[in-house]
Amino acid sequence: MALKKTVAIILRTMKMGETSLLLTLYSREVAVLKLVAKGARSSKSRYSGILQPLNTVEVVYYEKANRDLHTLSQATVLDSPDMKTMGPDSIVLAMACCEMATRLEAYSAVSTTVFDHLSVVISVFARAGERSARTAFLVFQVKLLQTLGYSPELERCSRCGSESAQHWFFDFHHVRLFCHQCGSEHYRMDSFQPETIRSLLYFLSGELRSAAEMSVKSLTLAEIYRFVDRFYNYHLPEMQNLKSLKVLRQMKLFNPDDSLASSTNN
Ligand SMILES: [Zn+2]
Repeated sequence: MALKKTVAIILRTMKMGETSLLLTLYSREVAVLKLVAKGARSSKSRYSGILQPLNTVEVVYYEKANRDLHTLSQATVLDSPDMKTMGPDSIVLAMACCEMATRLEAYSAVSTTVFDHLSVVISVFARAGERSARTAFLVFQVKLLQTLGYSPELERCSRCGSESAQHWFFDFHHVRLFCHQCGSEHYRMDSFQPETIRSLLYFLSGELRSAAEMSVKSLTLAEIYRFVDRFYNYHLPEMQNLKSLKVLRQMKLFNPDDSLASSTNN
């Protein structure tokens, strides 16, 4: 057994046995990491208040060769968002980002970038109002697509090269954008407002934090959600059936007719 040290974000905790916890973390170096914290639920545990989802921790652990589950030796908190001041939507959306990260075992080559995005988005959620939490969630998903190798070309029509359109069509299967004229022949494509494509472009090119703080209308957020959801369905089947996304659909956070639609500010 080798002793290892890494910085990681706690994605999920589950009870294990009488007093232990099973932790799923996202580590800067090794992507998804699973650790058993022995005795973590006993009243005298030295991990009290440390092993909470969304916390960034430095962990020292015993790595068992050829095993997926290792043993925690020490943990120190580096950053801990104050869940008491976070709105319920922010918590649900932050947990949805964490659940997505649990599915990224296969992408360990980009673990540093995923870790940085996750770290920034959690700090945004910790301070965000309801609407900016929703924007932050979508920016995170777009940044994740980009990190996993999908940067859809959204600057111009893939057929005629036009940089403006009354509305756009997007072919998710072939990852191609069409202006309203070129796309109208293809009856199966989804259409999007210019504002939606402009926002997506900014999400792709801007810093996560500043993009997340952009003011975006509810109608546009709903369209971006539809775009992102369809993109993941087509190209990242490992992200299907996320529990948190089912919860999000039930909460109708990205419904264009929601109560926030008429307000102009956060
Ligand atoms: Zn065109």
